[in-house]
Amino acid sequence: MTVIAIDGPAASGKSSVARGLAQQLGFSFINTGAMYRAAAWHVLNSGADPHSPASVTTAILAADIRTGFENRQSFIEIGGRRPYEQLRDEGVNRAVSAVASVPAVRERLVREFRTLARFGDCVVEGRDIGSVVFPDSPCKFYLDASPEVRQFRRNAQGQRDEVAARDRIDSSRRTAPLTIAPDATVIDTTELGLDEVMAAIRETLLAKGLPACQRT
Ligand code: C5P
Repeated sequence: MTVIAIDGPAASGKSSVARGLAQQLGFSFINTGAMYRAAAWHVLNSGADPHSPASVTTAILAADIRTGFENRQSFIEIGGRRPYEQLRDEGVNRAVSAVASVPAVRERLVREFRTLARFGDCVVEGRDIGSVVFPDSPCKFYLDASPEVRQFRRNAQGQRDEVAARDRIDSSRRTAPLTIAPDATVIDTTELGLDEVMAAIRETLLAKGLPACQRT
């Protein structure tokens, strides 16, 4: 079983790259950012204060959470509802980093990620995948891009999302902050297109001689 870990700051291209790579390799795709967003969405819906760790902890411990795969892509269901487009709401963008900094949220979701990865080969994107969730993965990547380009990408998607503010919280939190795992390959995507980033990753995987990554 192979886990390819792809970490990086907001709008560095992780999700598109991870999804595309999973498709090319015939792996499953686990979008952990979407799971933290779903947790934030649930916290907001349940009337809890996203900026109160105690309130967030109570809401998460009481939540009925189910995860799985559909067409080799992860999904999350909370209280019997599967959020999709709601995950990009401005309110979720504003609350998600605070919610994701609460240890009870991370413990709950990391359990889900590890269970999902037992189903087979997967590409997992996030902030702490190589450093904390799957530290033994032999294939770790860290995607970066200039702050201007990342904010531009989000705006171009028509989203109101304060990318720098999220990065600040994600990088400075106590539990599992955004960090570059020492054995990660860093790729600057500022001037690269999606195909170029995927090609760079596949080249690295091949150079590492990972047999599961040689599929096309
Ligand atoms: O990747 P995306 O921007 O959708 O992630 C939304 C938020 O979820 C991040 O800003 C971060 O606060 C949180 N997150 C996290 N750990 C992960 C993935 C996402 O804390 N592995």
